Amino acid sequence: MLAEIKGLNEECGIFGVFGHPDAAQLTYYGLHSLQHRGQEGTGIVVSDGKTLKGVKGEGLVAEIFTAEAVAELTGSAAIGHVRYATAGGGGYENVQPLLFHSQSGSLALAHNGNLVNANSLKHQLETQGSIFQTSSDTEVLAHLIRRSGFPHMNDRVKNALSMLKGAYAYLIMTETELMVALDPHGLRPLSLGCLGDAYVVASETCAFDVIGAEYIRDIQPGELLIINENGLTSERFAMSTTKAICMMEYVYFSRPDSNIQGINVHTARKNLGKRLAVEAPIDADVVTGVPDSSISAAIGYAEAAGIPYEMGLIKNKYVGRTFIQPSQSLREQGVKMKLSPVRGVVEGKRVIMVDDSIVRGTTSRRIVKMLKDAGATEVHVVISSPPIKNPCFYGIDTSSKEELIASDKSVEEIRDLIGADSLTFLSAGGMVEALGQDSGYCLGCFTGNYPTEIYPDTLQYYYQRG
Ligand code: SF4
Repeated sequence: MLAEIKGLNEECGIFGVFGHPDAAQLTYYGLHSLQHRGQEGTGIVVSDGKTLKGVKGEGLVAEIFTAEAVAELTGSAAIGHVRYATAGGGGYENVQPLLFHSQSGSLALAHNGNLVNANSLKHQLETQGSIFQTSSDTEVLAHLIRRSGFPHMNDRVKNALSMLKGAYAYLIMTETELMVALDPHGLRPLSLGCLGDAYVVASETCAFDVIGAEYIRDIQPGELLIINENGLTSERFAMSTTKAICMMEYVYFSRPDSNIQGINVHTARKNLGKRLAVEAPIDADVVTGVPDSSISAAIGYAEAAGIPYEMGLIKNKYVGRTFIQPSQSLREQGVKMKLSPVRGVVEGKRVIMVDDSIVRGTTSRRIVKMLKDAGATEVHVVISSPPIKNPCFYGIDTSSKEELIASDKSVEEIRDLIGADSLTFLSAGGMVEALGQDSGYCLGCFTGNYPTEIYPDTLQYYYQRG
């Protein structure tokens, strides 16, 4: 599904390199392959062993970094970030990596995820005299590190991390070290790889493939990796950990060529589709998927159901952010820019339309209508995840609860609203089973059971926006 029309957005992607002469250039390519995780801002900070310097801006990776800008970022270590702004809002000052200079040295931070106790920590820190440069929750870690009383940097970082609650994959860079930390539930994906003698770290393994790096392993929940000229050491900052990786990474966010916790995302989606065919057998002529993220699940459904998979919908890949969108009246006349039905495939056919999720329902309604206008005699919508009834507090912008169509409507009511002939969601149990591991996932937005405590100020923020 198309993120920008769906109302479901990942907040960030991070990439880091240590020990390579082309660190900034590799980071540029790595960020480019993580662009789907955030399109509103991007930055790279590089270290030459003595100083940290960076370039950042609001826009896409290819827009912000010219060849000249990257060439000026000389050094053998770098961290980079792509951002989709929600918590803390947008604006240049919130584009990461955040860079802090002080008499005791410099620090750069890149964060993927969302802290659930950021507001209370911020309040405490401000009472103690901290002045925040940004409205992003990421900056809290920099202040906690700076205020920690431990003499060694590693201990200061561990001490600071132990105060954070929520989802965080952090890259922390000083002049001489790259530190990599993952929250005690491992809510966001983060992997370690190598390129010759250099180490690389990325939100998704697709970033390794693009630079020819070799995957080593995933970062473990509660782990702090320290990479410096002596090599790599692994320490723990949280002893009690329970793995709960975001299920939506498999269902929707990550690229199909990435592997998360040893499971390939395309294969995971195919298995979700296969399971759906068992849970929702439908008599139809063709199966089609909503591009791009639902194609794998549609292929799986078709394979298991023995019904041909066809390309019933086409996405126009060249509709950029600056494209002049049709006005309401032109839209009503049928000007559709992002998705088009393939009349030759769907005309006179009973169509099973596979999608990964339904957020507000408006997009599903539009696509069902599009298929029927193109001549489909029946449109059966099957969704490769359960209804999203609750907001996400961990870095996925799932809209406020009021905007989630499934928060107060039954499946039959949603079917009626989107105009489908039938509507089926995958069961939560079926989804977990299809992935082949019976635990270790966050299902908070589906079930309402979150892996962490949710703080009252966070709840207030989520229930008031919208
Ligand atoms: S609540 Fe949903 S979107 Fe958020 S981390 Fe959990 S599974 Fe992912």
